[in-house]
Amino acid sequence: MKSVNLLILDDKEENIISLSALLADIQHINIISSTDPNEALKICWKNDIAIALVDVQMPGINGFEFVSLLKSNPKTNHIMAIMVTAISKEDKYLLQGLKSGAVDYLYKPLNPEITVAKVISFIKQIHIQEEIKQKNIALEESRKQLILAKEEAEEARKSKESFLANMSHEIRTPINGIVGIIHMLRSSELNDEQKDWINRLDTASNSLLLIINDILDISKIDSGMMKIEIESFSIRKKLADIKNIFKVKALDKQLDFDVDIDPLLPEYIKSDPLRIQQIINNFISNSLKFTESGNITLKVAVLEKTLHAVTAQFTVIDTGIGIKPEAIEKIFLAFEQGDDGITKKFGGTGLGLAIVKRLADLLNGKVEAKSTYGDGSAFSFQATFEQTEELPPEEKIDKKVFSTLEKFDNLTILIAEDNDLNSFMLAHMLESWGCHVDIVKNGRQAVENVNQQDYDLIMMDTHMPIMSGFEAIKEIKKHANPKKAYIPIITISASVLEHEQAAAYEAGADSVIGKPFDPVDLHQKISKLISKKTAIS
Ligand code: ADP
Repeated sequence: MKSVNLLILDDKEENIISLSALLADIQHINIISSTDPNEALKICWKNDIAIALVDVQMPGINGFEFVSLLKSNPKTNHIMAIMVTAISKEDKYLLQGLKSGAVDYLYKPLNPEITVAKVISFIKQIHIQEEIKQKNIALEESRKQLILAKEEAEEARKSKESFLANMSHEIRTPINGIVGIIHMLRSSELNDEQKDWINRLDTASNSLLLIINDILDISKIDSGMMKIEIESFSIRKKLADIKNIFKVKALDKQLDFDVDIDPLLPEYIKSDPLRIQQIINNFISNSLKFTESGNITLKVAVLEKTLHAVTAQFTVIDTGIGIKPEAIEKIFLAFEQGDDGITKKFGGTGLGLAIVKRLADLLNGKVEAKSTYGDGSAFSFQATFEQTEELPPEEKIDKKVFSTLEKFDNLTILIAEDNDLNSFMLAHMLESWGCHVDIVKNGRQAVENVNQQDYDLIMMDTHMPIMSGFEAIKEIKKHANPKKAYIPIITISASVLEHEQAAAYEAGADSVIGKPFDPVDLHQKISKLISKKTAIS
């Protein structure tokens, strides 16, 4: 324990000697004394004095004045002053002492026990005060560190967001090229062996895309950028689609796949169909992965139904390898797998269920896993949905080989894209649709080409060197020649971030297409923009 400095101020030397002798046995004090108030003040300024025992009656400065001086100086106002007095115990003196800032009185002749007890109790107080002071300092320090950590976390979130935007662009751009070339090869003359190679390449690039999408999804959710899009849709049709997809896959593994739907399930509900499908697909894909024989069932149960709402539970039950009880708690956490051998044997990143859990949260639902190790598992998602009678517009997605799509009427299209593989693939696709194509590698060249030639449409990558797609669009859209300013522009964005797509529209783009894109989707977008342009001109 730290020693406390105690000052004795008394004009009579003999009083100092007797008081010092009285306090000599007290631990953790260091006694300093003086017979002169002026010298005592200097001692207080220079040394860290904690307690002062001050005689009241002194020539020159009396005890009360001395204590007032201590209290008026910020350097010494913390000192605990105890008045030592032989004068009357009348209240007016007591009050004068307390008013000047003293904390207590000792009366002469000093009672040794009371004096020692009082000093010990003040030392204890000082130690407690010191402890509180240290704790306050530590508290203040941790408050500063917390603020710093918060700022750092905010910085990290921002750099994560821009990393996400860049990474999604950088990774998806080459995959876009690969997927495009696969499309091109598919529509060329191939022998059976080559068709098999293409199928394998297709599977590999799709699983690469799935992994990247998983990583992007979890980062998007964690940084609050995942948007849930609520709409009316036919849940029964969605379940039928899921059945069609997985029936074939289950058959490949010689597994039975059934969908058992509660007759109480309504036709239309309001939710995000894409995310619901993502959750159920994930459960079924896992069941397919971890089941060698037996069957997989998707059971849809209605738990509660009112006039406008329905609580439904989607459970995928399998007869697979099951999960150990100690692992079941962890599997909804990111990067967690049932056991360490799983990756070696089955592959996977451990992200699927973590995404499912987060998506379920975003849909105000919950997920649950039950399993008997060695016998099988049941994964369920439960949520309450609004029921609707509304018929959503039918989406017609026509999956065709791109080269069989309808030809355009001699369109001249400018492609601005710095990635050679992508522009090559895109040019090939557009040429197969009867378009004439020019390729440039940056925004500046795009603007120059637009100045020199006439185009029906521009395909513009957003991230390019020298001049970005955004800047080039802005320049073209304010072209002095209205014919040029009205050329429809489709941006090609590999970013998954909505604000990047919004930025493209803000710059003046007429449409946005993602990377990798579906050729049918691009064909539809071009048809729409061209017919709109023809209608205007
Ligand atoms: P991944 O399958 O990519 O490893 P998931 O998050 O989808 O990641 O699953 C996490 C883990 O949960 C899996 O590695 C596996 O151990 C376990 N698991 C999930 N579904 C099943 C299932 N149907 N049967 C057995 N184990 C499962």
